[in-house]
Amino acid sequence: MSLPRTVWNTVKSLVVGHAVTAREIATRPITVFYPEEKPEFPTGSRSVPVLKVNEESGYINCTSCGLCERTCPPGCIEITQAVDPATNKKKPWPHLYTLDLSHCMVCNLCVEACPFDALEMLDVPELATYQVQDLKFHKEQLLDLWKTGKAIRIAEGQPMPSK
Ligand code: SF4
Ligand code: SF4
Repeated sequence: MSLPRTVWNTVKSLVVGHAVTAREIATRPITVFYPEEKPEFPTGSRSVPVLKVNEESGYINCTSCGLCERTCPPGCIEITQAVDPATNKKKPWPHLYTLDLSHCMVCNLCVEACPFDALEMLDVPELATYQVQDLKFHKEQLLDLWKTGKAIRIAEGQPMPSK
């Protein structure tokens, strides 16, 4: 390549590069100083599937059928069905229900699989912890989360009315 051509290409790339830098300096950053600043989450953001309480009966809808457990791709749900100690027969509710959020993909498949409308996806954005074992939520914790979070219906992508 000739010398004038080389000089021209060098100057051109310097001008274009500095123009990009100048434009980015003038642009408002999209990053925030979390956790001092809280970002706005888009409508329909979801963070955790939880067990919900039937507002009419006051009990959970879960019958311990195990469909969500079998549907979950990473296998983060574990259910132990309740047993009547007198008759030794199984009862239609979970003695233990555990969801390991450290493996959860928030894919919503468990909510869709549940035939009893016993699960709901919530928009609780701040569940981070230093101990991974703290992301294993038990039945009572899932119910507590349900009471505090806002449910998201994925099909409509919209928050549901407040509880
Ligand atoms: S949202 Fe998906 S990954 Fe998470 S528990 Fe449900 S099925 Fe499993
Ligand atoms: S699919 Fe629904 S009813 Fe069946 S175990 Fe899961 S949460 Fe309970």
